[in-house]
Amino acid sequence: MIPVEALSRTMMAAVLHGPEDVRLEEVPIPQVGPKDLLAKVEAASIDFTDRKVYLRGSHPMIETPGLFGHEWAGVVTARGEQADVRWQPGIRVVAANSAPCTDSDPAARCRACRRSCQGMCERLLYNNGAFAPYIRIPGRIAEVNLYELPAQVPFEEAALAEPLACVMHAVRRVPISDGDRVVIVGAGPIGLLFIAVLRNRYGQSVRLLSVDHHDDRLALARSFGADAALNTAGGLEKTRVRAALGVERADVVIEAVGSAQAHQEAFELVGRGGTLVPFGGVAKGAALSLDLHRLHYDETRIVPIYHHTPADFASAVHAIVRREIPVGRLITARLPLSELPRALEMVQERTTLRTILFP
Ligand SMILES: [Zn+2]
Repeated sequence: MIPVEALSRTMMAAVLHGPEDVRLEEVPIPQVGPKDLLAKVEAASIDFTDRKVYLRGSHPMIETPGLFGHEWAGVVTARGEQADVRWQPGIRVVAANSAPCTDSDPAARCRACRRSCQGMCERLLYNNGAFAPYIRIPGRIAEVNLYELPAQVPFEEAALAEPLACVMHAVRRVPISDGDRVVIVGAGPIGLLFIAVLRNRYGQSVRLLSVDHHDDRLALARSFGADAALNTAGGLEKTRVRAALGVERADVVIEAVGSAQAHQEAFELVGRGGTLVPFGGVAKGAALSLDLHRLHYDETRIVPIYHHTPADFASAVHAIVRREIPVGRLITARLPLSELPRALEMVQERTTLRTILFP
């Protein structure tokens, strides 16, 4: 079945041309290759990464000029002749924005994938174009990172599977034990997801402290499950940290802001034998000053987390479908795609947690 709109063969889509230069343009509806699918985007989510990509005009995951947007959910509308038969037009789906090597022969995969570091795949295939009425799903993504959505799962919630997958990735790889004190630096959407996922996975066996510079976000952190919340705009005061955490330094500290300053604050909060998790991406050249005495004598572990793997995306989709993580609470604005410039500003002004765009 070919949708009526597809007959025009063009669509109005967001195209990133360079730094601070995104335009809504009439472009061809993507062609599908033999193993690809075409989907109608029902809801797309805009995040801080999109804002960073927009400001920098470049990112490992996008080439310019190119289609923009990477978090979405929608409905399959067309399929290549060699695509898996289970993906038929009309099926509600959510897809990740990338796929690592999928070769059935492990020897044919890249070195990173052979070493089980799929997030570091040397041939990671990124997919962009969610800020558009239609998006192509490359065959490789359809193979490992595409899921059917039950009717009761709203598209706008499913669109948040990608950021949730990144958080799931971190929680999977960071060792946490009963009784651990965990600090989440930053109470934006990612920090809030960390709180919800950690609480869901570890119950009351861990103590969670949220730190941020904005009281309204700290109140949200509490409502997402943080045991305590601390405004550190005036600096880290040991007595206040001790009062909130029971100890002066934590076992695990997650940086969920994406600034050099927040990384520094996070490092200062790591206790003996503890783990620093640099999660937020910063611009090239940003540096962290490490006290090597502490690094050695405290055996501080540093476990940076980038992106997600197919296993993490699967976990995220299942958590959303089973309603384990309240991703819908992050959605604070809904706009038509034509309001993309406004949506980008709202991310910067922090007047929204997550904005959903409707093409
Ligand atoms: Zn690979």
